[in-house]
Amino acid sequence: MTEILLEVRNLTKVYADRGKQVVRAVDDVSFSIIEKSTYGLVGESGSGKSTLARMIPRLIEPTSGEILYRSQNLLSLSEKQMRAVRQEIQIVFQNPFSSLNPRMTVRQLIGEPLQIHRKMRGAELERQILEMMDLVGLKPEHANRFPHEFSGGQRQRIGIARALVLHPKLLILDEPTSALDVSVQAQVLNLLIELQKHLGLTYLLITHDLGVVRYMCDRAALLYLGKIVEEGPIEQIFRAPAHPYTQALLNDVPSIDPDQRMLDQVQLEADLFSVRWSGIGCRFAPRCPAKQIGACTTVEPQLVPLTKNHRVACHLAHPHLALEGPP
Ligand code: ADP
Ligand code: MG
Repeated sequence: MTEILLEVRNLTKVYADRGKQVVRAVDDVSFSIIEKSTYGLVGESGSGKSTLARMIPRLIEPTSGEILYRSQNLLSLSEKQMRAVRQEIQIVFQNPFSSLNPRMTVRQLIGEPLQIHRKMRGAELERQILEMMDLVGLKPEHANRFPHEFSGGQRQRIGIARALVLHPKLLILDEPTSALDVSVQAQVLNLLIELQKHLGLTYLLITHDLGVVRYMCDRAALLYLGKIVEEGPIEQIFRAPAHPYTQALLNDVPSIDPDQRMLDQVQLEADLFSVRWSGIGCRFAPRCPAKQIGACTTVEPQLVPLTKNHRVACHLAHPHLALEGPP
């Protein structure tokens, strides 16, 4: 049976910054994650990935939308009820160098959630700390050491152990390996795969690296300026990417098979922050090598199905729907 563990509907976060400029950091995002699967969230820096991740356990309050966790709308829960849900939804942060308190030992870092939420102490606490350390590949003698005594990869193991110690169901991994050396990245990703099998975990994996997505994920969404531009099963996204943004990103993935290199050599015209979107038409149009004057610059494309479970927001992918321009 495939059960949906998490569904977000029309999730939106609008920030008003000092100059009264409004940033739609996450804009009308909808997707769902099947239990025990890995869902990828891909996009450049600034595309809204971390904001979206932090809204799920309500570390950031959404401006609008719905978050359904095991069919329960989290936005209708009290703060007390949310505290219980947050034990099931844990986040592993990107930077193991700053996300761990440097004054706490490994034993304290892993044991703290058990002491706070389970009032655990003594021999049972020690047993669970050591069991969790073993599970993530840390040795018993590491328990008395401080984070600065470890390499980046080992520090991320500590972060993962701390996130897992309350036995969550959903792990949100916000760029868990992007601060690590390439050789260490693979070890941490393989550990995550093993843990998922062993513990029946569901992952929301955030990354800007399509190689990581391909290796880890069952489905993925590509986020561009806060909006999903393409969403679907991994093998469809890699075999037949439909959005020019996805196509451009795929050209930057070094480890893909020769078939993938046959994609049109789409090149992005500039980076995310050097091209401003006017707010009219397709948000990707200012950088899109395939844009057509007309619909692309005047009508915002909607995320609509291309096949049964592959959605794309691009006028060029849906020629029957648009390209006549505005009514
Ligand atoms: P990512 O994780 O993909 O790099 P973020 O979610 O961190 O993206 O940021 C998305 C957008 O929201 C960026 O333009 C960022 O500057 C803006 N943003 C993030 N947090 C805040 C905040 N607290 N106040 C105002 N703007 C913010
Ligand atoms: Mg981020």
